[in-house]
Amino acid sequence: MEAALIDAAGAILASGRMAARKGGDKIAEDTVSIVRQVPGVRFDEVRSAGIGIPGLVHRDTGRVENVVNLGVEALELGERVSDELGLPVWVDNDVNAAALGACGTLPAPLRYGRMAFVNLGTGLAAGFVHGGIVERGGTGVLGEIGHLPVDPNRIACQCGQRGCLETACPGGDIRRMWAVANPPLPDILAKAAAGDSDAARVRGIVMHALADVVQIVVQTTAPSVIVIGSGVSRAGFPLLDALRGELRRRESSSGFIRRLKLVERLRLSDPSTPIGAIGAALIAC
Ligand SMILES: [Zn+2]
Repeated sequence: MEAALIDAAGAILASGRMAARKGGDKIAEDTVSIVRQVPGVRFDEVRSAGIGIPGLVHRDTGRVENVVNLGVEALELGERVSDELGLPVWVDNDVNAAALGACGTLPAPLRYGRMAFVNLGTGLAAGFVHGGIVERGGTGVLGEIGHLPVDPNRIACQCGQRGCLETACPGGDIRRMWAVANPPLPDILAKAAAGDSDAARVRGIVMHALADVVQIVVQTTAPSVIVIGSGVSRAGFPLLDALRGELRRRESSSGFIRRLKLVERLRLSDPSTPIGAIGAALIAC
């Protein structure tokens, strides 16, 4: 759980993190305490709070449902936190919050254009920002690319399909293929670079899926920039390098792919910047 205090211009004044505890009551309590702690003596100056959380979020009421990883079936998160803090509170989807936060870290011209954010945590989903505003679509399913069944390895997915993109991505089912390290991706990349053939095979599967993700996002939404973030961005340069290698391989046999400029558009978010918290704060501004 991360929190950031920002000013009206979006500058980060303070930030902090704490381990998330499971269960609705603990999540509500911890949210209240981190929102109090991070501003410290400046809490009196805080005018509103924004929360980004996975699961089904009802933005109009602040109710969240089915937050599987945190053991929540239903929670009136917005109302409880608002009552405790005495502040207006906005609750939104965590991927949308991270997308907005990542957009805010881009250089000025890109920040005002069209950007896509790929959240590679325990799952896989994308968020889209255009002109500084989160794009939401009409039904709440926009960006749920993790459950596109395209991967040729056809691993069973928790959603009931086979071969979903998410099954080949580093946060989730890749652990079945590479259980020796947690997180697995840096280990896979390091061993593959050192010549381990098993690691190279798994790297191939992951990079194929990630390159598919980049293509799907770019070819359906035409962003100027695509930012990959969350847990996996800690794999840093080796990840970017391997993914660019796969994209260049695709470019080498296709003029169509070359014209998409995938390699140039691709960035990793800086893992030291709490983009989810910044984005949640921006939503509440
Ligand atoms: Zn699936």
